Amino acid sequence: MSEEILINVTPRETRVGVVENGMLQEVHVERASRRGYVGNVYKGRVQRVMPGMQAVFVDIGLERAAFLHASDIVRPPLAEGVEPPVGGHAPSISELVHEGQEIVVQVVKDPIGTKGARLSTHLSIPSRYLVLLPHAKTLGISARIDEEAERARLKEVLGALIGENPLGYIVRTNAEGQSAESLAFDVTYLGKVWRVVQENIAKAKVGERVYEELSLPLRSLRDMLNEDIEKVRVDSYEVFEKVVKFVHKFMPNLDDRVEHYAGERPIFDLYGAEDEIQRALKKEVPLKSGGYLIVDQTEAMTTIDVNTGGYLGSRNLEETVYRTNLEAAQAAARQLRLRNLGGIVIIDFIDMTDEEHRRQVIRMLEKGLLRDHAKTTVYPMSQLGLVEMTRKRTTESLERQLCEPCPACSGRGTLKTAETVTYEIFREITRAVRQFNAEKLLVMASPKVVGRILEEESTAVAELEEFISKSIRFQAEEHYSQEQFDVVLL
Ligand SMILES: [Zn+2]
Repeated sequence: MSEEILINVTPRETRVGVVENGMLQEVHVERASRRGYVGNVYKGRVQRVMPGMQAVFVDIGLERAAFLHASDIVRPPLAEGVEPPVGGHAPSISELVHEGQEIVVQVVKDPIGTKGARLSTHLSIPSRYLVLLPHAKTLGISARIDEEAERARLKEVLGALIGENPLGYIVRTNAEGQSAESLAFDVTYLGKVWRVVQENIAKAKVGERVYEELSLPLRSLRDMLNEDIEKVRVDSYEVFEKVVKFVHKFMPNLDDRVEHYAGERPIFDLYGAEDEIQRALKKEVPLKSGGYLIVDQTEAMTTIDVNTGGYLGSRNLEETVYRTNLEAAQAAARQLRLRNLGGIVIIDFIDMTDEEHRRQVIRMLEKGLLRDHAKTTVYPMSQLGLVEMTRKRTTESLERQLCEPCPACSGRGTLKTAETVTYEIFREITRAVRQFNAEKLLVMASPKVVGRILEEESTAVAELEEFISKSIRFQAEEHYSQEQFDVVLL
């Protein structure tokens, strides 16, 4: 298996592609317009204490002062011998901070409109499998890891790794099933990051950033770079330098894998990645065997329908269906990852009678999902050939990131036919003349609908005019969508 990461940088957009054996398997997109401050840590100064709101405004160098509530401030540790306050009374804001005080804060919510950013002093710094909580002493495990045995194993592994380490950790969902070695790597990585942050805090001035949530290229390498990745190619020299520095600092044994790509062809033309992205936005996925998949993402779930192409013949029907299903299982696994589809997924395979064939198709699907970074669970095939599965992911699907619902059909994917719209217009006319007084009517609709009415419905229009004793004029409007029309009384 040869594995490669491509990083494509333009001023407003960065894309990361994961290529395995010459095929694009994963794509991540980050746009400047959506990039905020969340996750960044700043050295700030308390500008104003507002006892009434139990909050303070903090200057962190952004346009507007940021907001910090008492409940988001780490309580100072109690001095030795001091009893905790009776009834667990929360300290008031003025007991916690005072005006002019320097304070290290993390942005938890971006500024919106006239509202400043929201802050917390409970810092959290993520790695691939862990989150470091420098101010907590807890070891927490994501509730989404639900197997007791696995929780116990992770607790034991982490306990041994962090030992007397006074920092807190949370084990992220994607740590499930990870080796002690991978987790040890993360503990070391976070230790290094935290040392750098502390150094930054020591020398930073008020309003300076001391930790920045990683940009997409670095975040991707943090989460994906390992021994198996042969090459990381970056088409921007500036980002290449940052990437090399980052990898050298945190994964020094892998820094020789990073290359600056200065080729003539756009980097996403390598391995046909650009075309793959275009194809990943289509519903239909052709299979080599002549069959195809129909991938449909709805609010509740994703469905993948497997179809054979055309007439199969009856001689080797079971065998042909089996071959198509095998190819479909492989293609479905790849599409889920490429399109970053999550939640419940239902794959509707073509009916097979042979038990062993059914088992092999499931096995092929599971094999295809092995390399997915997101956690997947596959359930046995039902009598009707349906396979239910789940795929966990943390970001929007590729389609939701790159597309918006079609305004012509409001995302349904189909439009009312010109005929349907014609009869809606006729109903609207009879309703309107009953309600309002008018001499004449003007109907504005799309050229296709108006064309159809004039060509095919002239008799109906004449009858309608007679019935309402008014004349109707139809006017084609270029910019009207097929479903859109207006009935105007003149
Ligand atoms: Zn549409």
